[in-house]
Amino acid sequence: MKELVVISGKGGTGKTSVLASFAALAENAVLADCDVDAADLHLVLSPEIRRREEFRSGREAVIRQTDCIGCGACLAHCRFEAVRRLTADGLRTAAGGSGASCLDCDFCERSCPVRNAVVVREMRESLGDGREAVFMIDPAACEGCGVCVRFCPVKAIDFPERLCGEWFVSDTRCGPMVHARLGIAAENSGKLVSTVRREARRIAEEQGRGLVLVDGPPGIGCPVIASVTGATLVLAVTEPTLSGRHDLERVLKLARHFDIPAMAAVNKADINPQAAGEIELFCREHGVGFAGRIPYDPAVTRAQLAGKSVVEMPRDSGAAGAIRDIWRGVLGRLEETGK
Ligand code: SF4
Ligand code: SF4
Repeated sequence: MKELVVISGKGGTGKTSVLASFAALAENAVLADCDVDAADLHLVLSPEIRRREEFRSGREAVIRQTDCIGCGACLAHCRFEAVRRLTADGLRTAAGGSGASCLDCDFCERSCPVRNAVVVREMRESLGDGREAVFMIDPAACEGCGVCVRFCPVKAIDFPERLCGEWFVSDTRCGPMVHARLGIAAENSGKLVSTVRREARRIAEEQGRGLVLVDGPPGIGCPVIASVTGATLVLAVTEPTLSGRHDLERVLKLARHFDIPAMAAVNKADINPQAAGEIELFCREHGVGFAGRIPYDPAVTRAQLAGKSVVEMPRDSGAAGAIRDIWRGVLGRLEETGK
């Protein structure tokens, strides 16, 4: 099985548009949207979700109000100021009074759909019992270090795995697709990327599909590393600007570091032919296969508005033709590689 990962040094280069066209051109591929921080391949491929799984990663502390004796040890030991102290006359932060005062408006209780509503109700009941203060942990501030769990004298703090998002297995007109939604401010996107890739490979093996097409994240961080390691080939999509070239160099360096064959393509190449030429020359001088230039083409936007890739539009435009050529070059390179 071969695995092609389309990446870019930065967001907005047209990486996903290229990948969506590849998905339409490919035969017998499994698709994986590993750009989990800002997934958007689903906007073009309109997946029909067949399976939905929770993504849990890391841990978060949750105080059981019924067991807490209000000693304040958790607040004293938390280095991330994630523990809040609620008194009858207002909400104070761990810093001791710099937080906003509670207006007793009930917004938190009414707005939080699940857990915090329960926590707040328990806290109100505790305050109603005549306790001077109750403690709660702000899930957005908790780093999951576990120190409060260790220091709580009555073991009143639970430490469950944190729900960070979901991942899905879907059907699309271009084949099966694995994709995900990372929760707001949730971390460990690298682990979610690995999960999406692993599932896509599993489906490819199970269904006898010879290719996994991966829409990788932009940049060179942990999610990118998680999306390219062990891949057959990387295609880096860039734009003809100074920053585009700089970002391309970084991402190609990353591919080289992990010993992954790489190709590069320049999108909207005709808006700056000189810069596009310099990028092409750079690739040739550094042994990177130059896949081709894609012209600026309003048909790409029209295709996006229609929920299609540009190669699926009724009439082939300049970008569609260029992407078809690039696809043929990429397929040839994939066949040359041994994996
Ligand atoms: S787990 Fe760590 S970060 Fe979270 S509330 Fe406890 S001490 Fe603070
Ligand atoms: S350390 Fe335990 S008992 Fe003390 S305030 Fe925190 S949760 Fe309650």
